[in-house]
Amino acid sequence: MKIRLLGTGGADGIPGLFSNDEVSRYARANGGKDVRTRAAAVVDGVLKIDLPPETAMQVIRDRIDPRDWTGLVFTHSHEDHCAVSEIQYALFPFVSADSLPFSIYANEAVIGIIKARYPEWPMEVIQTKSFETYVHGPFTITPVQANHIEGEDCHNLLIERDGQKLLYATDTGIWTATTFDFLKTVVLDALVIECTDGFAPSGYQGHLDIQACVRTVQMLREVGTLRPDSQVVTTHHSHSGGARHCDLERVLGPHNIEPGFDGMIIEI
Ligand SMILES: [Zn+2]
Ligand SMILES: [Zn+2]
Repeated sequence: MKIRLLGTGGADGIPGLFSNDEVSRYARANGGKDVRTRAAAVVDGVLKIDLPPETAMQVIRDRIDPRDWTGLVFTHSHEDHCAVSEIQYALFPFVSADSLPFSIYANEAVIGIIKARYPEWPMEVIQTKSFETYVHGPFTITPVQANHIEGEDCHNLLIERDGQKLLYATDTGIWTATTFDFLKTVVLDALVIECTDGFAPSGYQGHLDIQACVRTVQMLREVGTLRPDSQVVTTHHSHSGGARHCDLERVLGPHNIEPGFDGMIIEI
């Protein structure tokens, strides 16, 4: 599998849209890996994960053709992952298609947002639930329950193809025992995991800071979910965490965790 990280920023990206903190200023001045658009990824060029506000810019930057997408999987309803207005551009009158060229998979909350936005539009949306596996083309996908929004079944995604396994875990929070118990039964070839709060734990339990991210990875290594050679990459970084890309490399490197960046390709 080939996973391309299209965006690796938190809710308002880096530089934060209206922020003038140190990390945002550094990113504005230096560009490169310090500029992070809102979190999204595409697997093997066809399986799109989340639809952030920068989708159009991300596909131009990385020379990706959205017409190749066969499936669009939403992780949860937050607007940095679910820019619902962008879906309309896949349909008439913006293009000649009178039905969506890709399937949408989403939890109940996201489906509610899509239905409210497009009450009359022809769209087939498949509802997904934590730990209920489904198949999309060559992919077997199991939504893994995140601990991110109270009252919403937010998903991290276990994606399998040809015996290879990836867990895409943005907006995880501290997983519950149920999620850890499930993950104990899985051996991952690669993990993409959020590290939103960087050096600055926010008190909000729905995200991980560096310490919690490292602890989570260590726990997965202890139980064999991650082999010593499984690749671990971070995503969903907030400027409020106070960590530049080079800081993340310095702090995460010794733990064999690689900070992700926009456009990064992971091959397993
Ligand atoms: Zn998010
Ligand atoms: Zn979120």
